[in-house]
Amino acid sequence: MAEEFNAEQRRYLEGFAAGIGAARMTGGLASGPAAAPAAEPTGPDAIHIKAQDATVKAGGKLVDQEKWKRAESPFDGHNRLKAEAAQGKAPKPEDNFRWRYHGMFWVAPNQVSYMCRLRIPNGVLHHWQFAGVADLADAHGGGYVHVTTRANLQVREITPEHAQPFLDGLADIGLGAQGAGADNIRNVTGSPTAGIDGQEILDTRPLAKSWNNWIINDRSLYGLPRKFNVAFDGGGVMPVLEETNDVGFQAVEVLEGASVAPGVWMRLVLGGISGHRDLARDTGVVLKPEECNQVADAIIRVFIENGDRTNRNKARMKYVLDAWGFDKYLAAVEEKLGRKLERVDPAHIAPRKATNRYSHVGVHPQKQEGLNWVGVVLPVGKMLSDEVRALAKIAQECGDGQIRLTVWQNFIFSGVPDAKVAEVEERVVALGLSIKAEGIRAGLVACTGARGCKFAASDTKGHAMLIAEHVERTVTELDVPVNVHLTGCHHSCAQHYIGDIGLIGAKVVVSEEGDTVEGYDIVVGGGFAETPKIGTEIWKAVKAEDAPLRVEALLRTYLAGRQGKDETFQ
Ligand code: SF4
Repeated sequence: MAEEFNAEQRRYLEGFAAGIGAARMTGGLASGPAAAPAAEPTGPDAIHIKAQDATVKAGGKLVDQEKWKRAESPFDGHNRLKAEAAQGKAPKPEDNFRWRYHGMFWVAPNQVSYMCRLRIPNGVLHHWQFAGVADLADAHGGGYVHVTTRANLQVREITPEHAQPFLDGLADIGLGAQGAGADNIRNVTGSPTAGIDGQEILDTRPLAKSWNNWIINDRSLYGLPRKFNVAFDGGGVMPVLEETNDVGFQAVEVLEGASVAPGVWMRLVLGGISGHRDLARDTGVVLKPEECNQVADAIIRVFIENGDRTNRNKARMKYVLDAWGFDKYLAAVEEKLGRKLERVDPAHIAPRKATNRYSHVGVHPQKQEGLNWVGVVLPVGKMLSDEVRALAKIAQECGDGQIRLTVWQNFIFSGVPDAKVAEVEERVVALGLSIKAEGIRAGLVACTGARGCKFAASDTKGHAMLIAEHVERTVTELDVPVNVHLTGCHHSCAQHYIGDIGLIGAKVVVSEEGDTVEGYDIVVGGGFAETPKIGTEIWKAVKAEDAPLRVEALLRTYLAGRQGKDETFQ
């Protein structure tokens, strides 16, 4: 194991072995006078240490991130991180990784500052929290806020001295960011219309909140082999894209005659990771809603023990599932639980009621008579702080005071009485925004891109706006909303593979000397909910300046060839 650590890491480890954290060490290093005798690791990090040791024992070489976790836990190191940030120091790569456990991402060279990603279970915020995030963005960040594709908020341009004050400010308004980055369980998504949707089978808010509390209070669930996503779908009209998550819980109605009692159950789907061209698949397992935390916990512990810690590209849970198959994985989960999971023949599950792809935009009646939700279009998810405060005021004065973020990079007002709907639209339009589900802006999704992410091959948000402007000018006959997703790299934060049209950033070679410009590979025909599908690549290496014309061509081909307005790109 000795050759797995550099000199600095060995100093940390020898400190632990000498007493600082001996209980958490496997016991001693391969050399050095202070090496302690082997001891079984204990405590919350033990499950990870054992998995690392097993990897090394099997001849594997741990990736740097695994060494960093082991050399100094991001939680044990938090005081040091804070002290160095307070002095204005930029983090070293290993400390950038550690800061991500606290929700802070150092995003140089694109921006020489931190981006903070929050945790907002089920994406639901009070109006005062929404306005509070805007105030924090003014006080400590760049004065603007982004809605992400995990129904979450991000604030950028936070300089090192402001990193901890920003996090302290989040705590003041009842929000947090712990575990929002690095190899942790990310923001927990749930149906945005939970509790207000006449079609839903189950309100996902208590489940999402309970699972969020379960993980943020258990240190052993931090430091997985790779990041991990969990989503809850309540069966309502608005999709939550649980099929793109590692674990998805779908509310279903089990019918009479099944092997379990009829009623509401949660169907377990596993292994979604759209960037690796895979959507979560049905395991056949159903759970009672109150079992979700315990089962998700066991699934994750099997992943912790068996995930790949030697290759970041193969470290997601999907790869354990690919190697083992569902039967073996579920048997390991059952062994952890000490009991069998219930399975139900799909023939005894009522079909899911149809989703409405554009229920996140416009006015929709709630199940509470006389009340509505109103979805606002936020092109590529960006809002200035003043806009956020004005929108929070609308929620307070015209709705039930809540803001519900969606995975479509926008949000809905809920609890808006019929008599207030016109006022909401008027005030939204006065801010230069819209509630209309027309053209491509309502379905336009773009990741951070080259303006703020070092992985990006292209300026996704900028190009998304150019595409929208071009199409609105040239394809005026477009009469259905279309999903266009732009993602900057293979991490697929904007899930380009499930868009009607998807663009993934690519450097395009434009000279014999190898000069490159920003561009995209383009896929079409992706889908989700009732029509899940990974899109098919049709063009490679299209220059970004040509992307608007290519999207125009695709839309014209679709309009000319479709049988009717209901026909999708698929
Ligand atoms: Fe960055 Fe890639 Fe994610 Fe876009 S998809 S935000 S470029 S990591």
